[in-house]
Amino acid sequence: MLQVRGALLRYCTGFRLHHCAAGEISNEPILEFKRGSPEREALQKALKNLEGKTENIPCVVCGEEVWTKDVRYQLSPFKHSHRVAKYCYADKDLLNKAIGAAVAARKEWDLRPIQDRAQIFLKAADILSGPRRAEVLAKTMIGQGKTVIQAEIDAAAELIDFFRFNVKYAMDLQHSQPISVPISTNTMVYRGLEGFVAAVSPFNFTAIGGNLAGAPALMGNVVLWKPSDTAILSSYVVYKSLLDAGLPPNIIQFVPADGPVFGDTVTSSEHLCGINFTGSVPTFKRLWKQVSENLDRYRTFPRLAGECGGKNFHFVHASADVSSVVSGTLRSAFEYGGQKCSACSRLYAPASLWPQIKAQLLEQHRQIKVGNPSEDFQTFLSAVIDEKSFNRIKNWIKHAESSPSLSILAGGKCDDSVGYFIEPTIIESKDPKEAIMTEEIFGPVLAVYVYPDDKYKEVLELIDTTSPYGLTGAVFALDKDVVREATQVLRNAAGNFYINDKSTGAVVAQQPFGGARSSGTNDKPGGPHYVLRWSSPQVIKETHAPLGSWKYPYME
Ligand code: NAD
Repeated sequence: MLQVRGALLRYCTGFRLHHCAAGEISNEPILEFKRGSPEREALQKALKNLEGKTENIPCVVCGEEVWTKDVRYQLSPFKHSHRVAKYCYADKDLLNKAIGAAVAARKEWDLRPIQDRAQIFLKAADILSGPRRAEVLAKTMIGQGKTVIQAEIDAAAELIDFFRFNVKYAMDLQHSQPISVPISTNTMVYRGLEGFVAAVSPFNFTAIGGNLAGAPALMGNVVLWKPSDTAILSSYVVYKSLLDAGLPPNIIQFVPADGPVFGDTVTSSEHLCGINFTGSVPTFKRLWKQVSENLDRYRTFPRLAGECGGKNFHFVHASADVSSVVSGTLRSAFEYGGQKCSACSRLYAPASLWPQIKAQLLEQHRQIKVGNPSEDFQTFLSAVIDEKSFNRIKNWIKHAESSPSLSILAGGKCDDSVGYFIEPTIIESKDPKEAIMTEEIFGPVLAVYVYPDDKYKEVLELIDTTSPYGLTGAVFALDKDVVREATQVLRNAAGNFYINDKSTGAVVAQQPFGGARSSGTNDKPGGPHYVLRWSSPQVIKETHAPLGSWKYPYME
């Protein structure tokens, strides 16, 4: 075991010594981008470089760049006339070719010492932290409509943290060994899974794509990575950083594809050994059903990990600090246009505090700037990701306009003439079971329910039973008894639970992320247990003396 620790320290010295003092790794610092700072200058230059440009992004299969005839474009959400990337869909044949190449590469990769594999991910983290940081941020901003800070916490900080902490957790795992008693030695070997892993990523976090493909690869697996159509540009930078860091061909293959074509092809391969998915509930359910229908084909039971949606809540008690409620809710509900799986989309406010909360929410709301985040750094949120999302969210606003139990307090305007812009919208609901209080909207829409102060216990029960999800939630209360009670009643309502803090902003290794119920399998990416999901441990018992007679002593 000491050998492993020694190896970790050895390769760490090659890259970022300050991250590895005494074998420890810390979170990547979040840069501030103040006027005159070098990071701001580098980012502005990278943004300028992308102006009006369309990057060609191929599939990468068998170590080669491949183009099919099915060409597509990724548009900038806030300026849809700008095609940021030209890419193509891998078809069924190409996907099957990739599966064959992956399976052929698996054995050698899995047999490589974890230290060697780890080195590649540490190097990729350093590339993203240094030479490619501005590029991945600019591409996340232009391609996915993120502001400076939202791109920084995602495509730089979180992604780099995923790579570094996964390495730490994978190395720590090597120390988790069974006991040995004379005359044998027992060893746990952390093998990759036998087959290939399909990684399917969502549009909203550049970091998630890197982690969905990267964590299994680190653990000795081979991966087909299907990025989201609306995050191709940034995903390709992540992929190239891994290749630049020395990832051999066929360990991760980059295969943009039509969702159902990809899902149908991978689930019908006998070699499928895992799906690492983040996205919506219907897509994950479809994949799970396909796997169960194909169970008889597989050589091994595929591992299914899925992190899905949420209907995240802020519960406010009469003892809460109003300014925390207001600023926490505005950030959680509207940053990145409410397109974080953890975004607050239902607020429960006590009648006694509501006039104050409402006044401050509306006052602050007037100061929020919606716009082009690459031109104006004061932009707080930009356009939503695409036309489909725009229409879906617009329909929710239309529903609010016509429903007798809903009233729009702020925002509500939608304009897709230049980009897919939707104003941050606050809606009050008189009915706590109205669809707007129960269904995921995934846009800048906050629904509020005002309750009588003395009914807060009933409201906690209501929050727990209102939606099928269990992702994130927050309680704002200074009364410790209320905090305790809320923590107990809402125990299963959120996999990430916050006290006097907003429901978004989980940090790798600090708040490993995920929820149960319809929100997913809660495997907690960003935490120590996650890497174990991508390993199939083998136990080896070695006996160091002859076995002796087959007869037991009492038989003599
Ligand atoms: P989505 O389900 O539409 O797409 C996710 C991915 O699945 C995309 O790459 C898509 O192309 C692919 N896909 C679609 N159909 C498929 C099929 N039949 N087979 C295989 N792949 C298929 O989700 P999205 O709109 O990209 O992301 C938004 C959703 O993701 C929201 O519900 C959000 O809450 C959730 N999300 C959850 C987390 C979390 O950690 N819990 C994090 C980010 C996003």
